[in-house]
Amino acid sequence: MLMIRFGPAGIPIGTPGEGTASGIAYCGKIGLGAMEVEFVHGVNMKEGKAREAGEVARKSGVRLSCHAPYYINCCAKEELKIAGSVRHIVSTAQAAFWLGATPIVMHPGFYMGRLPSECYEMVVSTFQRCLDEMEKLKITGVQLGAELTGKKSAYGSLDEIIGLAEEFGGKQVVPVVDFAHYHAREARLKTQDDYARVLERVEKRLGSEASKNFHCHFSGIEAIEAGEKNHLPISSLSPPFEPLARAWVENGWEGKAICESPLLEKDALEMQKIFQKLEKW
Ligand SMILES: [Zn+2]
Repeated sequence: MLMIRFGPAGIPIGTPGEGTASGIAYCGKIGLGAMEVEFVHGVNMKEGKAREAGEVARKSGVRLSCHAPYYINCCAKEELKIAGSVRHIVSTAQAAFWLGATPIVMHPGFYMGRLPSECYEMVVSTFQRCLDEMEKLKITGVQLGAELTGKKSAYGSLDEIIGLAEEFGGKQVVPVVDFAHYHAREARLKTQDDYARVLERVEKRLGSEASKNFHCHFSGIEAIEAGEKNHLPISSLSPPFEPLARAWVENGWEGKAICESPLLEKDALEMQKIFQKLEKW
């Protein structure tokens, strides 16, 4: 069994038929062990369909996660927007619960000219509101995933997302490292050491639990001064995948890697092939 499961961000391009359940079944058929269900433009899945897709995932051995809508802003200046964000996060969590998916990945918010510390307080309080709501609705086993964001104007540096997870004890909130975003926003990733340092920062503050249930995004990326511009196929080697796979294997990391390249499942399979070769070796 592979220590890291690989899968596409959304329904695979080659899926015969339509819908989430077909996409999950197709992932299983081509040998992938994960898939992220995309609610980036809104949550529109009813309970019946979600439970059905969850059942297909269990039968196919595919572990699911979800991506919450892009328009969430947990540190918005207006209460109305915060309340809306809580609603979108909780409905993503509800769908994830029916699907048997975790975590629900989100871009926490935008600085909009404010200090990171000010935004931090607001994001923490919004996350707490979401967790309280989820508890009321008896949504269990679904973690909030704070994603490392690609634009410098967006809340979510590596330290910030680790800090958020730490604030909630590293259980209810987890960091979702997007390596392409890190490459665009913070520092270029090239060598195994570059990757190992990122992993170390996560593990040092969140403990070994974080290295055994890791959830991350990977793809190539076109970077400009403001951060990310476009996601690229992994053949762009910007950043390269193999040194990351080596760092994982050497340090015994376990979890899921979601491929956000435009080639989706084709590149997820490519990443899996690279990882598998190293793991055997
Ligand atoms: Zn994202």
